[in-house]
Amino acid sequence: MKKWVYLFEEGNKDMRDLFGGKGAGLAEMANARLPVPPGFTITTEACNEYFRAGKQFPEGMWEQALEALKTVESRTGKKFGDPGNPLLVSVRSGAKFSMPGMMDTVLNIGLNPDTLQGLAALTGNERFGWDAYRRLIQMFGKTVKGISGEKFEHVLKRYKAKTPGKQDTDLTTEMLQGVVKDYKALYKKELGIDFPDDVLEQLKQGIEAVFASWFGKRAVDYRNYNKISHDLGTAVSVQTMVFGNMGFDSATGVAFTRDPATGAKELYGEYLANAQGEDVVAGIRTPKKIAELKDDMPEVYQQFQDVANMLENHYREVQDLEFTVERGKLYMLQTRTGKRTAKAAVKIAVDLVHEGIITKQEAMQRIEPSTINQLLLPRFDDKAKTAGAFLAKGLNASPGAATGVAAFDADTAEAWGKNGRAVILVRPETNPDDVHGMLVAKGILTQRGGATSHAAVVARGLGKPCVAGCEAIHVDDDKKLFSVNGRVIKEGDFISIDGTTGEVFAGQIATIAPDFSKEQELVELLGWADEIRSLGVWANADYPKDAANARMFGAEGIGLCRTEHMFFEQVRLPFVQQMILNAGEAQSKLDALGRAEADLARRPDNKEAKAAVAAAKKAVASSPAVKAYKGALAKLLPFQRKDFEGIFKVMDGLPVIIRLIDPPLHEFLPSYEDLLVEVTTLKALGKRKNKEGKALKELEVMLAAVASMREMNPMLGLRGIRLGITYPDILKMQVRAIFEAACNMQAKGVKVKPEVMIPLTGHVNELAVSQGALEEAAKQVMREKGVWVEYKFGTMIEVPRAALTAGEIAQYAQFFSFGTNDLTQTTYGYSRDDAEGKFLLRYVDEKILPSNPFQELDRDGVGKLIKMCVEAGRTTRPDLEVGICGEHGGDPSSIEFCHQAGLNYVSCSPFRVPIARLAAAQAALGAVVRDK
Ligand code: PEP
Ligand code: MG
Repeated sequence: MKKWVYLFEEGNKDMRDLFGGKGAGLAEMANARLPVPPGFTITTEACNEYFRAGKQFPEGMWEQALEALKTVESRTGKKFGDPGNPLLVSVRSGAKFSMPGMMDTVLNIGLNPDTLQGLAALTGNERFGWDAYRRLIQMFGKTVKGISGEKFEHVLKRYKAKTPGKQDTDLTTEMLQGVVKDYKALYKKELGIDFPDDVLEQLKQGIEAVFASWFGKRAVDYRNYNKISHDLGTAVSVQTMVFGNMGFDSATGVAFTRDPATGAKELYGEYLANAQGEDVVAGIRTPKKIAELKDDMPEVYQQFQDVANMLENHYREVQDLEFTVERGKLYMLQTRTGKRTAKAAVKIAVDLVHEGIITKQEAMQRIEPSTINQLLLPRFDDKAKTAGAFLAKGLNASPGAATGVAAFDADTAEAWGKNGRAVILVRPETNPDDVHGMLVAKGILTQRGGATSHAAVVARGLGKPCVAGCEAIHVDDDKKLFSVNGRVIKEGDFISIDGTTGEVFAGQIATIAPDFSKEQELVELLGWADEIRSLGVWANADYPKDAANARMFGAEGIGLCRTEHMFFEQVRLPFVQQMILNAGEAQSKLDALGRAEADLARRPDNKEAKAAVAAAKKAVASSPAVKAYKGALAKLLPFQRKDFEGIFKVMDGLPVIIRLIDPPLHEFLPSYEDLLVEVTTLKALGKRKNKEGKALKELEVMLAAVASMREMNPMLGLRGIRLGITYPDILKMQVRAIFEAACNMQAKGVKVKPEVMIPLTGHVNELAVSQGALEEAAKQVMREKGVWVEYKFGTMIEVPRAALTAGEIAQYAQFFSFGTNDLTQTTYGYSRDDAEGKFLLRYVDEKILPSNPFQELDRDGVGKLIKMCVEAGRTTRPDLEVGICGEHGGDPSSIEFCHQAGLNYVSCSPFRVPIARLAAAQAALGAVVRDK
């Protein structure tokens, strides 16, 4: 018979797959003889089997659970369902990767009218017994049976309103009896059946409910967001109840061994006296800081501190602890790896290295590279903050700045967020039903709840700014507004929250870039990463300021400078358009001259050839199109030269790959549809000029030009090197600009390393016919300047044919750079501009594709091409430099692939350079499983 159920002592910390994080932690603590209430864990395998069998417990599981329950009974000396000495248990979820607040828990299982009397008599505390019972009905009704939690809260609120203090602790025994009566009536009204008195039935249904919560909406959303597999299943831990609500010598709390927001080395957490577990996390009352426990219960505090230290040293990792004090005695209910912000994660990892607890390698492996971005998020500009309308200050629960419109329920937040609006979710307090709204919100603001409340814990896990427990605001979620000091913020109004300081403002506040150099621990960690990684990290940067950023973040080169971006600037665009509008006619005359000269070179004494050259020269000299074309190129040259000079200066000593013009030329012209409408309207109205004063004639010329350039599939059309071969003078101008800039800067003592990149090559002959002339143009400049610079010519690999014929292409190209945006597009045959909006996201949702191939490199298809290409290219040219400059260059999984495929470097946007440095180090260190 398969073993589905284990007593805590039968497990250990390495059994997370089977026990879930919580079960494994309880097992480890039980074995370390820490004060853990006895219990057992039902495995994740049982959960998976339960679903496989159509929601049936696997054979033998229930019997094993009953057997384990007997052992627990004998250990505690209590009996489940015994009115004389009743055992009560909690039923709690726990998956391999912790998913705080995403799944279900039911406490106080085992209470019915009989055992309630026993509990009251044994504890001598009748009020406590009734409080425990009302909690069971409430949790069971909500979690197991799906009755709206608000309905229970509504009843409770009614009773609380009758007390002087309005707190749950103010409810008298009689009032709690009334609550129980009303809860039972509510239960019956909602379900048509009575609340079960049979304690085994309660247990069974509780276990089923925890299993079912694995596929609850919020758990599924959370796993999708965090890329956690849906087939891991949850374990269920059944544990003897201990009570923090037995009076004011009892308490319940949660604490982290270090501050999960900043990483500071101090106990961080909170507790509530005379309360039960869920009260702290649910933000029912705003709890006290853990430091205050020192005064309230000094001995318990000391004991807890010792246990916390011991557990952190044992796990060599920050722990997230749950504890209960029952009549002065401490019990440990949970230890697990603490969820923390990225900033805290980095500080803690680096501190643990300095404390000699973990190695540098472990520190690097512990950080999920993509989370580093959170440290480099913009923050509010202090000056702008003073101008902003300060509203209130709450708890700085999760750092970062966020501005957006206020939404007062998760559904609205989700709908708006998915439509691209920046939303701040504002709630009295959050609970697991709000998670879908939290996932899309830019930030979270709550009126109640502490630093370990649901809102705070989830926000930190998601890396989103959160201000919690902002008691000065009064949230009315029915009316969808909050008021503060006489001011009202309604749904849809802009607010700004600063999760680093806890401040809340009305309106929008400008943000400024963070100061990377001040992130000491991150800088140190990335320094270690640089020592270990073999993959270079370069950046995609089009302007000197981007290059400067890239360098500050540690880039070792520019892997892609998209020259055409510079064309879009306002002062340049008219010249670009002049160049394009005349390119066709001018280039045909220039080409004719070129052909005639070549012919003459072959037969220098031939009269006809001489005459042909003379005629072609004349045609060139008298052509207005040639004049306009050359004139435009001459205007653009100094602009480009200046851009390149700036980049070379910043990148002093490092390689700079400059890509020649790539996109279809129509991208620089007005849209065909807009022009057509404008021209037609002007004609219909008999007008000669448009509103901007442009002549109809001019617009008609533009329309004709744009019409002549239209293509059915522009991405597969006249772009990249095809464009360069069609209009070679544009490329020659660019090459001239690059080398003039390079020579000028080298003459000033800057070490320049230009690499000229030809885009979208598909056939070796494309390089054969173009690269020589471009190299000659480069040499010509160097001869003129009398300066020689180190340079390379190479190509992008963006179509499968180039990858398949890499051996031939490498005869010309000194370097390859994988343009994986296009290579993914051309390999899959998916339009990179349309696929996501049309079908691709659905493919990912429905697991038709494992992930979005435009974000995470498709190893089996695109990756296969890359590997073949690298091998063939290096066979032809062993010192071939190979990199990647598509969006994948900043994606950790793709970076791992690039390392394995033997690339020299990855190139990504400047802000992703730190991510790439760490991801490259992790790739060199090998795979590890991290908590998600
Ligand atoms: C690519 O295709 O991956 C690339 C970097 O070029 P672009 O995105 O400019 O087409
Ligand atoms: Mg491309």
